[in-house]
Amino acid sequence: MKFTILTLFKEAYSGFLATSIIKKAIERKLVEVELVDIRDYSLDKHRHVDDTPYGGGAGMLMSVEPIYRALKDNYDAKAKILLTSPKAKPYTQVKAKTLAQEKHIIIICGHYEGIDARVELLADEMISIGDYVLTGGELPSMVVMDSIIRLLDDAISPSSLLDESYTDGLLEYPQYTRPYAFMGHKVPDVLLSGNHELIRRFRLKSALLETLKYRKDLLLKRRFSAEEKALLKEIEDELKRR
Ligand code: SAM
Repeated sequence: MKFTILTLFKEAYSGFLATSIIKKAIERKLVEVELVDIRDYSLDKHRHVDDTPYGGGAGMLMSVEPIYRALKDNYDAKAKILLTSPKAKPYTQVKAKTLAQEKHIIIICGHYEGIDARVELLADEMISIGDYVLTGGELPSMVVMDSIIRLLDDAISPSSLLDESYTDGLLEYPQYTRPYAFMGHKVPDVLLSGNHELIRRFRLKSALLETLKYRKDLLLKRRFSAEEKALLKEIEDELKRR
């Protein structure tokens, strides 16, 4: 898979690309990341890529033409072109999984006060990483790349992805490692029982409880198996008894 990132701040990616799973995925050629400096496509001798907004207002806007030229120079008919923007619906794990099927993703990073609205015409879709405003599209593009790269075959062990939060519409169950007791809080005994069926059931119930506690909205959209329905009833009865 390939990512082409159109940015004004290539240096923002040095730590990201040289760390952990992302670094290994690049070394193992599972992914290629190309950074393109939009300023290289300015025709201005001072390499300007922004201008004041028509109609007045604060700040500078990134111009459409350097971005258009950068896209043309990196043209790939099969590439998916994403424009980072706080205006889109927030990014999700489901979206990451869909995008992980692409062969080539081009991400346009805005900066300053924003970007000329006509850049939207050059993109297939807009991507927001949440309902807040960041300084630029660099962090969002890293978030998108990170979430996709870890889903690629062989990037991490497939079993690590299995029960992760959002994989099956639930949050992950709580996990524990040594020590057994910390400030009086002990690891649930069932996890030490060696009984795989009991552990599986405990984890499923804990995942349901965790989701109920922190993200009830996810449960409203979900279809439950008979086992999950029974576990939810157990949880409900236990909560009533408290
Ligand atoms: N003035 C714009 C607005 O109010 O919608 C915000 C511009 S923001 C300061 C500059 C750039 O950062 C945006 O063009 C976009 O590329 C990126 N950006 C900011 N917040 C983002 C978010 N939540 N998700 C994705 N990109 C974001």
